[in-house]
Amino acid sequence: MKVILGQRLFFLLPACILVATSLFLLKVGPESTGAPPGHQPDEKEVAIKPAESIKAETTTDEHIILHPSTPEPGNFLVIEAGPLKSTATPEIEFDFPGEISSVQHTGNMLYAVVGICYETEPDRYNLTISKSANPTESLELQKAVSIGEKKFQESRFSMPTGVTEGWTPDRLAEEREMIREAMAKTEPHPLWIKRFIEPLEGRITSEFGAIRIIDGNPPRRHDGIDIAAEEGTPVVSPNRGIVRLADSLLAGGKTVIIDHGMDLSSTYMHLDSIEVKKGQIIDRGEVLGTVGMTGYATGPHLHWEVNISQTPVNPEQIFDNDLLWIPCGYAAKKLSTGHQ
Ligand SMILES: [Zn+2]
Repeated sequence: MKVILGQRLFFLLPACILVATSLFLLKVGPESTGAPPGHQPDEKEVAIKPAESIKAETTTDEHIILHPSTPEPGNFLVIEAGPLKSTATPEIEFDFPGEISSVQHTGNMLYAVVGICYETEPDRYNLTISKSANPTESLELQKAVSIGEKKFQESRFSMPTGVTEGWTPDRLAEEREMIREAMAKTEPHPLWIKRFIEPLEGRITSEFGAIRIIDGNPPRRHDGIDIAAEEGTPVVSPNRGIVRLADSLLAGGKTVIIDHGMDLSSTYMHLDSIEVKKGQIIDRGEVLGTVGMTGYATGPHLHWEVNISQTPVNPEQIFDNDLLWIPCGYAAKKLSTGHQ
């Protein structure tokens, strides 16, 4: 029986552990109504806590909505806030482990994505958007974030001897840095268009966040999903983006990392062939490579990851509608070179 697996074993600490709280600053643009058509806040979802200096009438419509409203560990969480009536500089803070994307604003609406670490304990947390640069405009919006419990798959298996032959600590460290840099390099605005599509059709053989004990070693988490398919099957980009890495790595084998903008990237490992080059713009549905078993793998499959900055999130969630709340808005002409 073939053992199908593969992940960034041996060289990635769960980055999300390192980020307990994120803080971002941004400028708010001119006022306008940027809410998606027909989208109104649910009263039950809205929690507004104006600072004392704010007149009630200036805050009655301001709100925060979360998508999904009750996220799980390993989800990405879309934050939608507004209409913001202040032009002061907002700060976004949250008290659960994870990382936040760059912040978008369309008119007076604000959008951001938080990658929630898969090791987050289920609990009720807080998210705060505050603007205090100008005392006359100071405001604080608060929202409770209830993160539910999620049971992750557990598995135990062995790898054939020799699969790590030739690996060196120095090269692994170098590749770890290559991956970190590729995920860190991002366009500030979303590059995606329409819904995300599947990069490959096939059977999921290892789930996101799975707890895996390999050869009796301490448990490691699976930062992506494994999709089994025949060697040579084309793998397509689930949406538009810029190729940030296209290289052959020890554990990842032939690997491609695509920046979809706004700190959202997708990663493809163990490819048999790579059909794209670093710096290239790739379209939604365009072939990036073919399924293989290069690197730390014993059977043909795709290891697919989605990250918010360095925090892995469940790739299957990308097919939900949540990201569509964030306007794409990035001018096509700015994508004319891709060499950034
Ligand atoms: Zn994998």
